[in-house]
Amino acid sequence: MLAKSALYVVATPIGNLNDISLRALDILQQADVIAAEHVQTSKHLLTAHSIQTKLITLHQHNETAVAEKILALLASEKTVALVTDAGTPGISDPGAILVGQVRKQGYQVIPIPGANAAICAMSASGITNPHFLFFGFLPTKSGLRQRELELLKVQSCALIFYEAPHRILECVTDMIAIFGEQRQITIARELTKLFETIHTCTLGEALVWLKADTNQQKGEFVLLLSGAKIPEKSEVSEQARHTLERLLDELPLKQAVKLAVDITGNNKNTLYKLALSMKETRSDK
Ligand code: SAM
Repeated sequence: MLAKSALYVVATPIGNLNDISLRALDILQQADVIAAEHVQTSKHLLTAHSIQTKLITLHQHNETAVAEKILALLASEKTVALVTDAGTPGISDPGAILVGQVRKQGYQVIPIPGANAAICAMSASGITNPHFLFFGFLPTKSGLRQRELELLKVQSCALIFYEAPHRILECVTDMIAIFGEQRQITIARELTKLFETIHTCTLGEALVWLKADTNQQKGEFVLLLSGAKIPEKSEVSEQARHTLERLLDELPLKQAVKLAVDITGNNKNTLYKLALSMKETRSDK
C-alpha cells in the first residue's frame, strides 16, 4: 500500500531498462499520477514494464506551475510519483523545486533510490580517493567553464562532471588548460548501454584518444578527474609549516599564504594547497 498525500521521488534507469528496483515498479504501478520530464520517454519505460498509470509533464520550464497542481493532488489524498528521463530526479534534473514545495506544505516526500550516472561511473572508475565532489554540468561557454575549473583546481577530492557529446572535446581542452596534461581522467560513456566505454588515461592522452575515433565522442558522458595532489610533507620544511599554521590562526587564508611565501620563500601554490588542507583538517575537528 502506498502512502496517501505523498510524493515518491523515483529513480529510473540511465540506459538499461532492467536497472529499476522492484519497489520503484510497484510505486509507478500504484501511484495515481506520474509526473514525468518527458511523457514519451517515460512511456517507453512504463510500457516495457506493463504500467499504465496516468502521466503529466513536469520539466525545467513548468516545474513551479505544475508543482501547484501536484500540491492540489496531494491535498485530495492522491499519491504522486516523480520521474525524470533517466536516473535520479533532482540530480542535474528537475525535481528540487517540487520537492521543496511539497515538503514546505508538510506532505511526505519518499525517495526511491536507484540509478545515477555519477555514482555508476565512480563505482567502476577504480579511483581510490574516498572523497569526491559531484559538479554536474559545467558552463557551456569556454571562458566561464575555465573559471569554474580554476576554482576546482586545488581540490584534493576526485571531481565528477556531466558533459554533452557536442562539447566533449572543448571541455577536455579546457580541462587541460587548467589542470595540465598529466591529471588523470576517467571517461565513462554510454553507461549500461550497448556501447558502454570506461577509459582511464591522462588528460593529454584523453584528447588524442577522443580525436582518434569519433565514435568515442558520441553518447552520454561522465568525466571523473583525480584530485589535486596534496604536497608531501617533505616539500615544505617543518618551520614553514609551523609559520603557516600560526599565520592561519590569525589571518584569512589568502593573507596567511601571502605572508608565509614572503617569510619562508616557499612556492605560493604549494603553500596555498597546504593551507587549504590545513583548513580542511581544522574544520573536521
Ligand atoms: N538525473 C540523472 C542522474 O541521476 O544521473 C542525470 C541527468 S542529466 C540531465 C543527464 C546527464 O547525465 C548526461 O548528459 C550525462 O552527462 C549523464 N548521463 C546520464 N546517463 C548516462 C549514461 N548512461 N552514461 C553516461 N552518462 C550519463
